[in-house]
Amino acid sequence: MKILVSAGPTHEYIDPVRFIGNPSSGRMGFLIAGEAHARGHCVTLVSGPVCIEPPEGINLVKIVSACEMRDSIMELFQRSDVLIMSAAVSDWRPKTMSPRKLKNKRKWTLELVPNPDILSEVARIKKPGQVLIGFALETENLVENARNKRRAKGLDLIIADTPGFFVPGSSSSAAFIYKDGFTEKFENISKEEVAKKIMETRWLR
Ligand code: C5P
Repeated sequence: MKILVSAGPTHEYIDPVRFIGNPSSGRMGFLIAGEAHARGHCVTLVSGPVCIEPPEGINLVKIVSACEMRDSIMELFQRSDVLIMSAAVSDWRPKTMSPRKLKNKRKWTLELVPNPDILSEVARIKKPGQVLIGFALETENLVENARNKRRAKGLDLIIADTPGFFVPGSSSSAAFIYKDGFTEKFENISKEEVAKKIMETRWLR
């Protein structure tokens, strides 16, 4: 199958040397891409700026901002069977980017505007048979919040996890919540195990 995976953070530049973004390592998406390739799928990985090596044998598309990620995903999704959106997309970007390094050290206010919600936009162009899988990082009410997010974004499956995953090599509680309401909960699961479980879902095995 043709699998499109997003990974990493997005960086939203304030000026040429400063940005806002999320502290995402990109490991979850890279593990999913590697696992999918190992199982014989054709994989394209759209990644924000990360410091890890991509898995071998996949097509890598490097982007920086959420708008660039949206443009790449919207184009590539039309040729994909499954989209697995594990990127930590920045929810906002500065309204304007200064072309020069900002030097004024006085107090100032940065105006932010919302970034496009990539999954919701993809859900609007999704054709029958195409599958959308998303992630939801939650600090509380893991299952309930993720259920609402799955519905709002029109996903076939959402994987809810916790900031426990921020520490490299650690495990997290997680829940796989499917469109039909079926929910599988895991107390201590590693990112490697999450990647394998995704590949064992009915669409990909
Ligand atoms: O940030 P949030 O918790 O809403 O992310 C839930 C899902 O939506 C994730 O799969 C994430 O990659 C995706 N997302 C997106 N576009 C955004 C923000 C998040 O597609 N602007």
